[in-house]
Amino acid sequence: MSQIERISCLIIGSGPAGYTAAIYAARADMKPVMYQGLQPGGQLTTTNEVENFPGYPDGITGPEMMLQLEAQAKRFETDVRSGFITRVDFSGSTHKCWTEDGHEIHADTIIISTGASAKYLGLDSEQHYLKLGGGVSACAVCDGFFYRNQEVVIVGAGDSACEEAHYLSKLCTKVTMLVRRDEFRASKIMADRVKKTPNIEIRFNTETLEVLGDGQLVTGVRAIDRATNQESEIACTGFFVAIGHQPNTAVFQDYIDLDETGYIKYAQPGTSKTNVAGVFVAGDAADKTYRQAITAAGTGCMAALDAERYLAAKGH
Ligand code: NDP
Repeated sequence: MSQIERISCLIIGSGPAGYTAAIYAARADMKPVMYQGLQPGGQLTTTNEVENFPGYPDGITGPEMMLQLEAQAKRFETDVRSGFITRVDFSGSTHKCWTEDGHEIHADTIIISTGASAKYLGLDSEQHYLKLGGGVSACAVCDGFFYRNQEVVIVGAGDSACEEAHYLSKLCTKVTMLVRRDEFRASKIMADRVKKTPNIEIRFNTETLEVLGDGQLVTGVRAIDRATNQESEIACTGFFVAIGHQPNTAVFQDYIDLDETGYIKYAQPGTSKTNVAGVFVAGDAADKTYRQAITAAGTGCMAALDAERYLAAKGH
C-alpha cells in the first residue's frame, strides 16, 4: 500500500480502551481503523482470570475477554489490523501516521489507546511463570484474590508497591516485601502504613535472584541481602512485581504533551482531549492512578464520543 489512505478515525492500540472506542466509533458510522500494536489485546492478555469486569459473573480469562471485545468491534465493521504506528505528524489539521511498513494514513481524528507496560525484573524464571500464569503478576488488584490465605512476595519500594503490599496484606497470611535499597522511594505516609502492617515483612537491601517453582507453579523466591551477601529462600505461591509502568507514548512525544513520567496529559480534565485538536486519549496511556480494564473501557467510550463531536462540529 503506497497510496495515502484517508480516514475519519484511527484508533492506535487494542486493549479495552481501544476496543471500546472502536465499538462506539463504528456504531457512530465513523468507520474506524484500528492498529492493534505490538501486543494485541494489551496487558490483559498477560493476566489469567478477570473477575472484576462487570457482566462476567463467572469470570473470564484476559485473552478470552479481549477476543470477545475484538469480535464486538468487528461486528460493527471496525477495520482491525495487525501492525503498529512508528511515526506521527500532528502539526497540521490532518493527522498523519505511518505504520511499520511505511503505509501513510491521514486521519481526521486519532484515538490513542496504546496503554502502558508493566516493568518486570527480566529474570528467566520470572518470565517463565508469568507466561504460564503460574504465580507471577504485576497487578495485585487483578490477581491478589487468587492468593487468599497464602504467602506472597512483592518487589518494589515506590507508592505502587506500598499500595499493592497493603492490599495483599488484607488477603494473604504473609507478604514479604523486597526493597533493593535501604530505603523506600514511596511517600512517607505510604511507607509508614506498610511498616505498621503486622503481616508485611520488609527486607531492605534485598534483590531477587530467582523465582522458584515446580515448573508449573511458583513455590518461592531465592533472594540475596546485598548488605550481608546472605542468600535465602522465601516460600510463597505468588510473586508480585511492582517496580513501575512505562506508558507506550514515545512515538507521540514531539506533538502530545506528556508528564515527566511519559503519561499523556489531558488538556481538559473530564474529557479525553489532548493538547492537539482532534487527537484523543483513552486508557492507561494517560492513567497512572486506576489502571483497570473497566476504567480504560470507560475512557475509550469518552474518546469516541469526543471524536464524534469534534467531527460533527467540523461539519463532517
Ligand atoms: P516508581 O518509579 O515510583 O517506583 C518504582 C520502584 O521500583 C522504586 O522503588 C524502584 O527502586 C523499584 N525498582 C525499579 N526497578 C527495580 C528492580 N529491577 N528491582 C527492584 N526494585 C526495582 O513507580 P510506582 O509505580 O511505584 O509509581 C509511579 C508513580 O505513580 C509515582 O509518581 C507514584 O508516586 C505514583 N503513584 C501514586 C499512588 C498514590 O498516591 N496513591 C499510588 C501508586 C503510584 P529504587 O527506589 O531503588 O529506584
